[in-house]
Amino acid sequence: MAPVIAIDGPGGAGKGTISRRIAETLGWHLLDSGAIYRLAALDCERRQLPIDDEALVAHAASELEIDFIPVDGGTRILLGGDDVSQAIRNEAIGAIASRIAAYPVVRSALLERQRDFAKAPGLVADGRDMGTVVFPDASLKIFLTASADERARRRHRQLQEAGIHASLPDLLEEIKARDDRDMNRSSSPLVAAEDAVTLDTTELSIEDVITRITALISK
Ligand code: C5P
Repeated sequence: MAPVIAIDGPGGAGKGTISRRIAETLGWHLLDSGAIYRLAALDCERRQLPIDDEALVAHAASELEIDFIPVDGGTRILLGGDDVSQAIRNEAIGAIASRIAAYPVVRSALLERQRDFAKAPGLVADGRDMGTVVFPDASLKIFLTASADERARRRHRQLQEAGIHASLPDLLEEIKARDDRDMNRSSSPLVAAEDAVTLDTTELSIEDVITRITALISK
């Protein structure tokens, strides 16, 4: 299998930006696994599926028609041919994604789809369980964390830049609720892999984090 760098951690710790930058620097593929859970959530919403019906949601997840198309400075994300790159970033879709991600049948329905991203020359995989479940043999595993307050501030700034209005206290509450669901679910709870290097980014800039990870890659 092609080499994999797994970058895991809670929402808003900077995984998305950092993973994209590392993938660009190395010329490797990028897996945004959160986007796959968000696509499954958006698909449920569009089809008005009852999201508490695990079997139905898992079946829909196994049939998702999705595409990730690299474009200048990012990725276009398609669901059934529609560009949903913006639509999946909505906080409500994030909340549904986090609920359906708690179903073991949904996680296994999406497992092979994620592994398919591991192609030559290599993959940077961003998620919650990249190093523990999806790519346990990854050559480097990073666990990125930051305080919940700092993650809420970052998410707020990111949304503002995208022209989306959100309230900071609401975002903090949503981040804490999502942490709680991600860390306490029975299937693949969010934990650092035993062989992961943990980086607390609360006080670090993006450049600091990239420098540290680059040093770990070249070790
Ligand atoms: O990272 P992002 O916020 O886009 O992910 C959306 C949700 O999908 C997360 O809150 C998490 O519950 C779920 N997720 C997951 N496993 C992953 C990636 C995301 O459970 N590997």
